[in-house]
Amino acid sequence: MERIRLLYHGSRTPTLFMLLCGLVCAVLLWDQGHVPGLSLWLLGLVFLAVLRLTQVAAFSRAAPARQAHPRWHRLFMLGAAVSGCVLAVGAVTLVPADLFFLQAMVFGLVAAAIISASVAYAVSLPAFLSFALPCLGPAMGYLLLSPHPLLQGWGLLAGILLAGLMVVAWQVNRLVLRNLLRRFQNLALIQHLEEAKARAEGLNHQLAREVEQRRRAERELRAARDELEERVELRTRELAQAGHALSESEERLALALEASGLGLWDWNLETDEVHHSRLKEIFGIEPAAVTGVIRHLRPRLHPDDLPALRRALVEHLKGLSDGYCIEYRVRHADGHWMWIEDRGRAVERDASGKVLRMIGTRRDISQWKSREEEQRLSAMVFEAASEGIVILDADYRVLMVNRAYSEVTGYRLEDVQGRRLAELGDNRDLHRQYQAIYAELERHGHWQGELMDTRKNGELYPQWLQLNVVRDRQGRVSHVVAFFADLTARREAEERLRYLTHYDELTGLANRVLFMERLHEAGQRARHEGRRVALLHLDLDRFKLLNDSLGHEVADQLLRQMSHRLLQAVPEADTVARLSGDEFAVILDAYTSLSALARIAGRLLAKLRVPMTIGDHELVVSASMGISLMPENAREISTLVSQAGMAMRHAKHLGGNTFQFFTDNLHARTVERLQLENQLRKSIEQGQLEVFYQPKLCLADDSINSAEALVRWRCPEQGLVSPGEFIALAEETGLIGPIGEFMLRTACRQAREWQLQGLADLRVSVNISVHQLRQGNLVRLIHEVLEETGLPPRLLELELTESQLLDNVESVISIFRQLRELGVKLAIDDFGTGYSSLSYLKRFPVDYVKIDQTFVRDLSHGGEDAAITRAIIAMAHSLGLKVVAEGVETQEQMDFLKLQRCDEIQGYLISRPVEAPAFASLLREQAALCS
Ligand code: C2E
Ligand code: MG
Ligand code: MG
Repeated sequence: MERIRLLYHGSRTPTLFMLLCGLVCAVLLWDQGHVPGLSLWLLGLVFLAVLRLTQVAAFSRAAPARQAHPRWHRLFMLGAAVSGCVLAVGAVTLVPADLFFLQAMVFGLVAAAIISASVAYAVSLPAFLSFALPCLGPAMGYLLLSPHPLLQGWGLLAGILLAGLMVVAWQVNRLVLRNLLRRFQNLALIQHLEEAKARAEGLNHQLAREVEQRRRAERELRAARDELEERVELRTRELAQAGHALSESEERLALALEASGLGLWDWNLETDEVHHSRLKEIFGIEPAAVTGVIRHLRPRLHPDDLPALRRALVEHLKGLSDGYCIEYRVRHADGHWMWIEDRGRAVERDASGKVLRMIGTRRDISQWKSREEEQRLSAMVFEAASEGIVILDADYRVLMVNRAYSEVTGYRLEDVQGRRLAELGDNRDLHRQYQAIYAELERHGHWQGELMDTRKNGELYPQWLQLNVVRDRQGRVSHVVAFFADLTARREAEERLRYLTHYDELTGLANRVLFMERLHEAGQRARHEGRRVALLHLDLDRFKLLNDSLGHEVADQLLRQMSHRLLQAVPEADTVARLSGDEFAVILDAYTSLSALARIAGRLLAKLRVPMTIGDHELVVSASMGISLMPENAREISTLVSQAGMAMRHAKHLGGNTFQFFTDNLHARTVERLQLENQLRKSIEQGQLEVFYQPKLCLADDSINSAEALVRWRCPEQGLVSPGEFIALAEETGLIGPIGEFMLRTACRQAREWQLQGLADLRVSVNISVHQLRQGNLVRLIHEVLEETGLPPRLLELELTESQLLDNVESVISIFRQLRELGVKLAIDDFGTGYSSLSYLKRFPVDYVKIDQTFVRDLSHGGEDAAITRAIIAMAHSLGLKVVAEGVETQEQMDFLKLQRCDEIQGYLISRPVEAPAFASLLREQAALCS
């Protein structure tokens, strides 16, 4: 495209030059006579020139894109070829063949025009050739072919010119091409440079922008840094101030904690770590020893306080309370319990509200607690005191009163507050007394004494008053404390006590104390005035039995009635007294003679024996009486008393319902008893006791299947002593215990021996006394003996007399039950002599009833005893009990009993009680008979 542009732009000057050369040639040839051809040629040349110039102008106007079109190139070549033809045709045809000069001129001009055009068209070799070849080729041929040598010369010249032009054109074209190439390379370089420049500029621009931005950022950064520095400085200053304030407040806090005795704790609940200040001071433990609350502090807690602490803590951990404060006990390192007040609160929770950290304080409040306890106690004592307590101010005006005061006086606190005690009742005496009391208080600081005061309801009452002054540290009177007790009850009690110390509450008679006083007085009188004193000692017969069987209520009424009768029967008595239970004493100092005394005694006993009705019971109660005289029998009161007692016991021995005077003989008997007791005691230790066995005959098959063990005492002085002489004494003195145990052990061992020897399966019965029952270890003893001897329990029978059975019914029943559980048999001995009734038999769990020998003795005579015996057998059988009859001495008795279907008999008819070897022979005899 560039070459075409160069062609067009470079063609304007050759075209105009060609037109100029044509015009000059026309002018030169004008005179040669070819005017029409010349004009035509000229016109054609001008037209062609104009056309080509127009074409150049059109090309110049066309847009560069369109200029690239190949049409322009073809048009140019066409124009060049036409121009060359026109130029060559004119010069060849119009020049005269003979005019050299003209020829030279015209040919020269045309050659000049051709050269200028060829040079211009050499840019494009096709364009050059399309001009040079049509221009010079035909002309050269025409000239060379012309006959004129001159023209031939010119034709040769034209050929040389063409060759020369082609070389020039080739050269020019190469140069142009190279130039163009260079130009384009330059252009490309320039463009590249420009682009690079533009890029560089863009980069520069960007760089500048960035630099600017960086500068701005730097500026902002610097400003921010400055601001930051300023803030840091400010903050540092604030922090320093805060630090200062903090250390000051920490110091203050430490001082406050020190002063308050508080220990600060900080507890991490996740790790159980705890930091606790003042551990040593409060708990006495080294801080290093405590790193965890649950690990170290909890084991020291008092177990009673743990639930309350846990409750408070859990409540707080659940967020139900803002903080907690609780008191509990903790063991100090030295071992004592101390009270701790613990306050704490959660300071850190996680997102779910779980407590992570807690802070709080603990302090030792033991002292405060004990003070509080003391105060509480004091307040309690003040309120609960049975004595009235009043607290007065220094001016004796009431500040406080306790409940006891109000209860006694009827005044409540509001009635008396601010008033003086003396002003309360309208009592002038009291007022005067209080003045004296105040004076005494000021002098000595305390006063106590008895006053008659007035209650609110106007009632006068005796009062024990005690006033104490309380002083403050400066020694000034701050309070006065008054204690007072209402003496009314005490006076009454004293009266009652005075009465009770001298009189018997139940009967109203003088008691032992008053009796002794009176007896002493009577003794004094007897000594000084030469008078006589008789002491009557009474004891109701079988009262104990009555008491047990009829009950205390009836017995009490009986005692009251008896006392009344006593008082009535001996109006002349100095004193009638009740000494104990059923014992009475009468002091008589106004009797004339012994016979008169005996009459009095007889009258007294008769009066007492009169039947009396108590409730549904008609009772006849007799008494035994012992009488001792002063100075006849005794000179000392104590002797007199013991002598009367001795005489009374003798009367009892005689069967009761009688009186006995004390005699020296009686004294001797008593001494004898004492000796007997001593000997008996020794006999147990020295093994003088023996067991005799009396067989019992079974009436069903006339066989001896059991025996009663009976004690005998082989006394070195008296020989064989029967139990009748010492059992009662042994019971009185408690010696029956060891005797009974000896009997039980020996009898069981013996029975077991006979069993082992194959003599008999003998049931052995042992008598036991109520004394043994009372000792409480009978069941254990029997169990032990059975184990020891190996005797089967069914072969042991225990006998208890009917009268002893009634001693303590409930306890006997319970012991009997236990014995029966062991498998032991039980029997009621001497049945019929006591007060037994059917109901009793039913209640006691027994197996045998032994009819007393007094009934058996008279069986042979028929009559009452036979009827009783018959009734007992029938009754016992109806209750499923077996009956044994004792004391069977005759065949008639045995026959009768057999007839009545009595089960067993015991008595001299069968055998007397015999020693073990003799009994063994008896058994052998029986065995021999049977076989
Ligand atoms: P008991 O238990 O009623 O014993 C029966 C008594 O009657 C025995 O008197 C016996 O020898 C006697 N006897 C037996 N058959 C006849 C007879 O046909 N005619 C007569 N007249 N008497 C006969 P003993 O051995 O003198 O015993 C008297 C009481 O002493 C016993 O009466 C018993 O209550 C008591 N006794 C005996 N030994 C012991 C004993 O070891 N401990 C206890 N607590 N009391 C015993
Ligand atoms: Mg017996
Ligand atoms: Mg008996």
